[in-house]
Amino acid sequence: MEVKINNSKLELVEGDITKQDTDAIVNAANSSLRGGGGVDGAIHRAGGPKILEECLQIGGCSTGEAVITTGGNLKARYVIHTVGPIYQDGCHREPELLASCYRNSLQLASQKGIKSLAFPSISTGAYGYPVADAAKVALSTIITYLKEHPEIESVRLVLFGHSTLTAYEQALKTLV
Ligand code: ADP
Repeated sequence: MEVKINNSKLELVEGDITKQDTDAIVNAANSSLRGGGGVDGAIHRAGGPKILEECLQIGGCSTGEAVITTGGNLKARYVIHTVGPIYQDGCHREPELLASCYRNSLQLASQKGIKSLAFPSISTGAYGYPVADAAKVALSTIITYLKEHPEIESVRLVLFGHSTLTAYEQALKTLV
């Protein structure tokens, strides 16, 4: 599924984020930036040790914040690492922190002259955020940003598995 937000493209695809040819891909990292499981592990495996070296140099990242490294051996030139909230019950600032992940990643992209980027579904794996709720937060934050920032030409959400793609498609239909 693909929509236009002013002149920018927003697309939802099922796939593997490590294979994307966008200028940057976003990693759902943990606050230590030392690598981990899920999408984080996949990105470090595919990108090689250079990314971890740069992450260790940066030292860490708070929940809702984002930092940037090069893309190592990936097709993408950069990896933006952001730390999603661990879902408790939805009453511990989870929506606000998840929105910050997307917004801060997009801001970093704008600052670096990145025109295209790919996001995974942040927080919906090991961190337990219900996918339907996370999809609404992710998409509404991205849409708001793209309306104000035409310098970002394309945002792709790369969703792992058909049920995650379907959840994002349903959320997008209610927003555009
Ligand atoms: P978090 O700790 O933020 O929940 P996870 O990596 O556990 O992060 O999961 C986030 C989402 O990323 C999940 O939907 C998971 O299925 C998905 N995922 C795992 N590997 C990949 C990959 N290679 N490409 C895209 N998405 C992936």
